[in-house]
Amino acid sequence: MIFPDKRQILNSDMIREIAGASISEASGSDLNSEYASIKKAAFAFVEGAVRGDQSYISLENRELAFIIWILVAIDENIITARTIIKARDTAEKQLIGAQHYEDLEEFGRRLGIDISVEGEQIKKDHLYRLDVTDFATYASRVTGSRYRLSNQIVRAGYVYVQNDVMVKILREAFVSFLFGVMDQIRKEDAVTLLRPVSDDLERIKEAYRKAHGSGASMGKGDASMFPPCINEIIKNLESGVNVSHMGRLALASFLHKAGYSEDEIVSYFRNAPDFDENITRYQIKHISGEISGTEYTPPKCETMRSNHLCYMDDDPLCHREWMKHPLTYYEVKRRNRKIR
Ligand code: SF4
Repeated sequence: MIFPDKRQILNSDMIREIAGASISEASGSDLNSEYASIKKAAFAFVEGAVRGDQSYISLENRELAFIIWILVAIDENIITARTIIKARDTAEKQLIGAQHYEDLEEFGRRLGIDISVEGEQIKKDHLYRLDVTDFATYASRVTGSRYRLSNQIVRAGYVYVQNDVMVKILREAFVSFLFGVMDQIRKEDAVTLLRPVSDDLERIKEAYRKAHGSGASMGKGDASMFPPCINEIIKNLESGVNVSHMGRLALASFLHKAGYSEDEIVSYFRNAPDFDENITRYQIKHISGEISGTEYTPPKCETMRSNHLCYMDDDPLCHREWMKHPLTYYEVKRRNRKIR
């Protein structure tokens, strides 16, 4: 069972040793072969996530730690989102199967959530007690009326929930924890520490590219799968509203990544008040890398937000902890991934 441990995940000495452990070294120490197994399992886990393999793979703490460093080194939104979801689902299964209350208590404690089951049962079926603020923070990310505060017993600042609700709360807190730890690791450090496994990192990127065609495009899809931010930019352009430079860049690079041709992308800009076909085509060629040599990626959600281009409103997918990029939104919808 995973028990999230921030200090362990941030233990760069351990990560260096795992990265350097030799799988084929028959005469290696016990620790070396243990680390080699951890490394192998961590890569298998990420590769499974990239392939969309939904079968259950068990996960232990040091494997999780190494996975986090792999994700930081690769720095690819969709690989990160898929792997975090897989880790989340793995933790959820382990929590569901936990034999003791104490396991959930300990899991929560590691995430900074105080859970209690002692002497606070005010109704037979309501076993776990947690602070109402913790409940509200994480339950909002779970769909379904079962997870709304109005459907819980609330007394004196505490919420009393059944096991399945508690597991969902912990699951979402776990996702927050993982992203929080990732933010504390610098990509340069991860790349340096994981240099001995650079071939493995490349193999994962290659597996990702294979699963998504050339990697230059995610495959053209239905516009109904576009995220709210992109739909809002399109709506504004269609109605002749002036869209900021950042908004235009986001739309053009998004459509390019989504497999749209230059002609198709141009058509989205025809109603712009200052539309000039030559300039638009030039800019699209620039964004696609045809004349600049650099293929642009749409801005991350954080950048979209700071430029007042995020229109998430109550879109549940946008409210996911791991939703960091409009392309991730599109990718998840395109693959019809079931989000709960
Ligand atoms: S959260 Fe991200 S994907 Fe959703 S609307 Fe905002 S910028 Fe777009």
